[in-house]
Amino acid sequence: MSDQRPIPTAAGRAASDERIETPATHEVATWQHRYGDALLGVFGTPKTVLVRGEGVYVWDADGTRYLDLLAGIAVNALGHAHPTLTGAIGAQLATLGHVSNFFATPTQVALAERLLTRTGAPEGSRVFFTNSGTEANEAAFKIARRNRGEDGRRTRIIALEGSFHGRTMGALALTSKAAYREPFEPLPGGVEFVPAGDLAALEAAFAADGEGGPDASTVAAVFLELVQGEGGVLPLPEGYLARARELTSAHGALLIVDEVQTGMGRTGHWLALQDPALGGGVVPDVVTLAKGLGGGFPIGAVVTYGERGSHLLSPGQHGTTFGGNPVAAAAALATIGVIERDDLLASVTAVGEHIRSQVRGMAGEGPLVTGVRGAGLLIGVQLAADVAAQVTDLAQRDGFIVNAVSPSVVRLAPPLVITREQVQPFLDWLRDLNADPASRGVRLPTADDLPTDDLPTYEEPR
Ligand code: PLP
Repeated sequence: MSDQRPIPTAAGRAASDERIETPATHEVATWQHRYGDALLGVFGTPKTVLVRGEGVYVWDADGTRYLDLLAGIAVNALGHAHPTLTGAIGAQLATLGHVSNFFATPTQVALAERLLTRTGAPEGSRVFFTNSGTEANEAAFKIARRNRGEDGRRTRIIALEGSFHGRTMGALALTSKAAYREPFEPLPGGVEFVPAGDLAALEAAFAADGEGGPDASTVAAVFLELVQGEGGVLPLPEGYLARARELTSAHGALLIVDEVQTGMGRTGHWLALQDPALGGGVVPDVVTLAKGLGGGFPIGAVVTYGERGSHLLSPGQHGTTFGGNPVAAAAALATIGVIERDDLLASVTAVGEHIRSQVRGMAGEGPLVTGVRGAGLLIGVQLAADVAAQVTDLAQRDGFIVNAVSPSVVRLAPPLVITREQVQPFLDWLRDLNADPASRGVRLPTADDLPTDDLPTYEEPR
């Protein structure tokens, strides 16, 4: 039987705050062991066990402090334990914690209204609340299924290679990676994948409709991310979205944009769609949101744009117990309120550009870093070889939480409240590592090396 010591309490904090950079004691190791004995092993061994957070920092059970440059994978928009957020959650919970969807709450309605204005949704648009990103995409999938056309022939959904839309069966059917899909087949049918960014392939998917006008179309929806987050922080090329809009409009298909990772300020705009370089003024039919929306409190949302997408689901065709929960809605309203009050969209743009320009400058200064991409505070650092997992482990050892999103890409998705000064120690660290990776054991392959099969595998996205 594993150690049954109690979870460290707030009373123990002061003492643990004093401890910095202790070598691994049995505290983290014990919790990791107990985790392994109690939790389903789908995530592997946790990298450490975190006990508290404040602003852009978190502490583990050994008392080690980390600069959190991942924010729960693009979730903790306001950092940790933000007083406005905790205050709003506490106040709502103390007033009214949950009601069934037979009833409504002012908090839920206010959040829906706020989302409609911030996302620039036109008259007639609507919101459906969920608890997570995958559930938002399930709802969007069902909306697409209802876009059958008069003769019921619209059953195909076009998704992109490299996509990640979630782990439940419908969202998984829209996710391209074979290793995620194959163990769970058969998945909901009708989904076809085309190479991301390849306009000719997208056009060919519509051409497969055969002759005839728009009414002959068999495509119900195109589903895409503007920056493929889990795919390696890969933005779609300019012009792709606009052409996808033209094709979907011409053929009666829906354009569904998954902004679960990119939405709610992450790119320096409420939606990546509002970034001229990414969205180019395109108006979609459906947008899905989650992650940063509640600042760390679980909530997702589907925004249907205009009358068309808003009336495909009729009463009784979809629902959820927790969707629209007033505490979650209060968390999202508080998060949006702080983003507005503290002008965080401008800060995200400025700090993101600072990080990218510094990392860009490192490419060429040393052998490790070769480039940078992304938007706002969703950033991919491209490495020269498949060593992202090793770099991530070294970063953690030195007090920085980042993520190996693909074998050769390190992802940064810090809290939106992070400042240049706070991120600078990491940039200095990366510059040092880049100058001499071999001194930290990061071995980059040379022309004489064999293929990289024996290099560490990257972390699985959640
Ligand atoms: N869509 C995108 C673009 C995502 O990045 C993710 C999660 O990483 C999801 C959907 C799934 O969201 P969740 O993990 O909240 O179900």
